[in-house]
Amino acid sequence: MRALPATVLAVCGLIASACGGTEPGGAAAGQAHSTAQGPDKASVQDGPTETATAQQAPPGAKPLAGKVIVIDPGHNGGNYRNPKAINRKVNVLTQWKACDTTGTATNNGYSEAAFTWDVSNRMAKILKGRGATVKLTRSDNESVGPCITQRAAIGNKAKADAAISVHADGAAPAGHGFHVIIPKKINGPVDKVVAPSTELGLAVRDAFAKGTGLPYSTYVGSKALSFRNDLGGLNLSTVPKIFVECGNMRNAADAAKFQDPKFRQRIALALANGMQHYLEA
Ligand code: ZN
Repeated sequence: MRALPATVLAVCGLIASACGGTEPGGAAAGQAHSTAQGPDKASVQDGPTETATAQQAPPGAKPLAGKVIVIDPGHNGGNYRNPKAINRKVNVLTQWKACDTTGTATNNGYSEAAFTWDVSNRMAKILKGRGATVKLTRSDNESVGPCITQRAAIGNKAKADAAISVHADGAAPAGHGFHVIIPKKINGPVDKVVAPSTELGLAVRDAFAKGTGLPYSTYVGSKALSFRNDLGGLNLSTVPKIFVECGNMRNAADAAKFQDPKFRQRIALALANGMQHYLEA
């Protein structure tokens, strides 16, 4: 995969928490799968083929029948090609922010966008197997956007029972581990879903820790929870929604795990289990 330009990466890579905070928003909601091309082709293809089935619910059980889940794979592989569109300011109610960022990357160039795209598709496959209707906020890892505002709107329009935005962080190299970001009340549309989003966040945190063995973040939040009011993808959500920062792509140990397709499958399964636990509660 091609390395992103250092100047672009710096936007997100050096601002740890802001990185997870970028959400795209736009096009092609509802297309859970498409043909991956370019930098992500390998990671997508070597991935979703394996496992999930063995660990899914028995055939016929369909525990998530009737549930709608929206998965937002953070950033997009083409974002670096159109800084003007990506840097455009959008209103996230508590502030104006860039439409999105490029996301971060590992030191050897595995991009956050490729990682989130792969994990999200794996998770979608698992959840569909359990009977859920699953929509993704983007349909490939080649294009630009959507903006964070649109990503929230996609979940709202779908009337999702639960939504999750998948990210990996770009923090200082010594920090590692995962965390979940939960919305705060802002005297805005998200207020009425802060409580269920918190329940969702707790369920996903517990399932993620159990399923992946990754530790709680050593550099942000408390017990792998961070409550924020600066993220458009959360502030503008009217459905229960969280972000997950699966770890720190700038940390060597976390980065090595993220580049292993088998570990990405573990992540996807853990996230799917967390979503299911919340929906069944
Ligand atoms: Zn991110």
